[in-house]
Amino acid sequence: MAATRAYLDYNASAPLIAEARSAMVAALDAANPSSVHSEGRAARRLIEDARRDVARLVNAKPEHVVFTSGATEAASTLLTPDWQMGRGDVRMSHLYVCEADHPCVLGGGRFAAAQVTRIGVDRNGIADLDALTKALAAHDRADGLPLVAIHAANNETGVIQPIGRIAEIVKAARGVLVVDAVQAAGRIPIDMSAGYADYLILSSHKIGGPKGVGAIIAHADLMMPKPLINGGGQEKGHRAGTENLPGIAGFGAAARAALAGLDAMEAVAQCRDEIEAIVRELAPDAEIFGAAAPRLANTTFFAIPGLKAETAQIAFDLAGVALSAGSACSSGKVGPSHVLKAMGYGDSLGALRVSTGHTTGAGEIEAFRAALAAIAARRAGKEQAA
Ligand code: PLP
Repeated sequence: MAATRAYLDYNASAPLIAEARSAMVAALDAANPSSVHSEGRAARRLIEDARRDVARLVNAKPEHVVFTSGATEAASTLLTPDWQMGRGDVRMSHLYVCEADHPCVLGGGRFAAAQVTRIGVDRNGIADLDALTKALAAHDRADGLPLVAIHAANNETGVIQPIGRIAEIVKAARGVLVVDAVQAAGRIPIDMSAGYADYLILSSHKIGGPKGVGAIIAHADLMMPKPLINGGGQEKGHRAGTENLPGIAGFGAAARAALAGLDAMEAVAQCRDEIEAIVRELAPDAEIFGAAAPRLANTTFFAIPGLKAETAQIAFDLAGVALSAGSACSSGKVGPSHVLKAMGYGDSLGALRVSTGHTTGAGEIEAFRAALAAIAARRAGKEQAA
């Protein structure tokens, strides 16, 4: 077994950063933030500081941030036909999602299956904007508004969607746009003040914060979905339950660091390029998915003909390298990637995802090279024997 491990699976979960760990430890003894005594007020301050830091990461207003138990809960809350504006009800009659969305969006939240339309992607993983425009043009507003939900950057390929263009299309159709910015936050700049989206979904553990905490961020005060969780009126009634104070404090610290880290993306891209150069050198017939589209600097998703991704993943693991195979994002399942299928690749294709971050350096890249070299040598041996 390798003495030190190379962790190349940031898109599954980025390692907890030291600042988030300290903020969490400091928050463990905090009182109930709804209590009016000074201990309660001190706990409240921790939450409000974190709210400010999370808002800053995407240039939003702190009062528009609602903390949740993660991006999945944020999506399940937002993807509902039932909304409220002040005391009035607002109805969304149809949901438009993208075939390559994360399952928490693709599932359609609280919409019935018949109320959900899936928009396809091209061979590079970019959403079909003509199809979206046409679908929205055909939307019947008599029953309610169109709600569009799409990821800003794909968790498997790293492909970045043209959110500016999508926002224009949704605005022209007088619809509402939810952007799943889970993988994009802290990796590309996001400016909610510039009309990037009506609602944003974030997750703490993809940016170096703890798991089990995320946020909904609204662009304005206009309207909010009817809550998924009702109770004591926390988070201004949008998400009840005593707040996960250590989680929120850790998320705030991670958001602060992620904002500062946006300047370092060139170095991250260099690591990704080096990893792709190794793939091309050791397996010249490898296919790198979405390579022709704008992509996150930290992600590469590739397949090597004849190499079963699950087997390769185990070989990498035994060699001390942690990466993902296929769509290994949910409950340890490894299955055909719905993202690659949407991009027009077959079911049987096994792909490997390498996703990097602040701990990735020369050592990790060398470990990746050594592991892939051994796998490629075994593959060549098998081909010769066949
Ligand atoms: N959206 C995207 C793009 C993701 O990559 C993930 C996690 O893999 C989620 C949503 C779900 O996030 P969470 O784990 O906070 O529920």
